[in-house]
Amino acid sequence: MHWLTFDLDGTLADWPFRRLLRPYMQPLLEQPHIRQALREEYLHRLAQGDPIRVYDWGDIHRVVQEKLGLEPVFPPIPKLLLEAALDPSWVYPEVPAALAAFQARGYRIAIATNGLAKYQQVLVDRLAIPYDRMLAPDLAQAIKPQPAFWQPVLNSQVEKVVHVGDLLSQDIWGANQAVLTAVWIWRSMPEDWRRTPVHQRTQRKDLDRFIEERLQSELAEHGLVGQSSPNQPPQPDHIVADLEELLVILK
Ligand SMILES: [Mg+2]
Repeated sequence: MHWLTFDLDGTLADWPFRRLLRPYMQPLLEQPHIRQALREEYLHRLAQGDPIRVYDWGDIHRVVQEKLGLEPVFPPIPKLLLEAALDPSWVYPEVPAALAAFQARGYRIAIATNGLAKYQQVLVDRLAIPYDRMLAPDLAQAIKPQPAFWQPVLNSQVEKVVHVGDLLSQDIWGANQAVLTAVWIWRSMPEDWRRTPVHQRTQRKDLDRFIEERLQSELAEHGLVGQSSPNQPPQPDHIVADLEELLVILK
């Protein structure tokens, strides 16, 4: 059995959960005391290392609302997930056909997201992204880059697992530690990298320095999920701009 595990946000779709909440969150985030309290609560949970609490935005909102003594200002997440209009263009354009092509080749598809399944699954279903299994912190009791995150698909029948994601600090570090084939999808890949043939990108002399810089900026933005950082820098086995390039690699 061959599995392809895909990160969701920034890999298959353009952050649908964030986009769904944005109109409600934007005015709140413009208030510095609310913005700061949300960031503090997130970083606090990150430091505690509980994989299920880190990205539980509904619970983060609840705690901040109580702490600041606010009226109920935060959006009703469960209701929005079920009822709000979703824009199909949030799914990257080549994704539906590419996933169907992988399935036709016999790959099983997993959505492997650090967002909680209780939020992401309904979005994935409503956006009609096809998949066989969902991996998420509230299902795996682990979070990328912890290798245990992939445990649900690493049973005795598995021959190969390829993980595809856009974050070096979560997807590539995680795939390296779990000893999976690590594919870094770089959707904003600059033109000179696109011109480098796919098989030569990991050989580029400027790659190591670039990865180091990018890793530091990711860690500054997202923090390190799951406590200790590996000794090695993240090492992608392949670097692709989109899933069409992945289809060629996995031929
Ligand atoms: Mg991502």
